[in-house]
Amino acid sequence: MFSINNLLRENIKKLTPYSSARDEFSGEAKVFLDANENSLGSPLTKWYNRYPDPYQHGLKEVISKVKGITHEHIFLGNGSDECIDLLYRCFCNPGKDNVIVCPPTYGMYEVSANINDVEVRKAPLTDDFQLDLIHLENLADANTKIIWLCSPNNPTGNSLNRSDIEYVLNNFNGLVVVDEAYINFAKQRSFVQELAEYPNLVVMQTFSKAWGLAALRLGMAFASTEIIGVMNKVKPPYNINQATQDLALKALEEVGQVNDMIREIVAMRDALADVFSQIPAVQKVYPSDANFLLVKIKHARKAYEFLLTKGIVVRDRSNVKLCDDCLRITIGTEQENTLLVEALIDFSNS
Ligand SMILES: *Cc1c(COP(=O)(O)O)cnc(C)c1O
Repeated sequence: MFSINNLLRENIKKLTPYSSARDEFSGEAKVFLDANENSLGSPLTKWYNRYPDPYQHGLKEVISKVKGITHEHIFLGNGSDECIDLLYRCFCNPGKDNVIVCPPTYGMYEVSANINDVEVRKAPLTDDFQLDLIHLENLADANTKIIWLCSPNNPTGNSLNRSDIEYVLNNFNGLVVVDEAYINFAKQRSFVQELAEYPNLVVMQTFSKAWGLAALRLGMAFASTEIIGVMNKVKPPYNINQATQDLALKALEEVGQVNDMIREIVAMRDALADVFSQIPAVQKVYPSDANFLLVKIKHARKAYEFLLTKGIVVRDRSNVKLCDDCLRITIGTEQENTLLVEALIDFSNS
């Protein structure tokens, strides 16, 4: 049986969180002399002299409508990367607990584990980039606190089989994090609507990809009220700055424009996959549910360097296990994609 109390670190269970000036105040007031801000204002607009809302109520209200879940199931982090780090600090005892990752996958799960001195166990994906459930099951023990799943996965681009994710959720008593950074580009349904069914589920999404707001640093975690409560207790009080809250609210008014961009990127991705597969040096274009393509190419490192001489940067994954000779290529603008294709044809002919 899953129980958050069996999972939490003792120090976090006992933690009295920092109580900010704005935490302690509730009700009506017009004179704020409680937080040592500059009451005269700022060189910018008057808003920025005040500390931001620690719990981002306005932003969460809008996100809850877009996602169809209530605000107490939402955590906002300074990028998904902050959510990843916080989950380690809440649930994993350094030098004692472990987590499982399924490489090739997003690098931050492991880096963040290393920073927090948490053991990382690896259950590599199968040749078709799906979960190896038997290996996963064998690796998990009483100290395994988190299994990190990324779907659609980076850098492979595919979605994990839904039934496999459900199997892990049903059979593992620690947290199962499903990182859905690329979900907006996928045919696969999000797991956000399954929170009621799985008390051990954490879904992560981000404003960095489909929303086009990587610079704002805004990540989302969706989970049970208990898990979100713990994350709120441990986070830095003002982790989401006011400029980010203001700009994200503005962006959320433009869902239509974002959906148009998503459709355009998906169409270009599928067209580009066809074009790539006709270039002689290209050996394989992997199916993608994301805004990038994983491409197997003859002499990938040389291709990477050739592209650099043309001023085009892609991601060299040729040394990554299961991605031998692969480049990860983000879908660009029409013009950028054309430049890339021309350069790859040049490389093929060189
Ligand atoms: C890009 C990406 C993120 C986003 O991280 P942010 O910190 O929100 O920018 C998260 N997970 C994966 C797998 C990614 O590729």
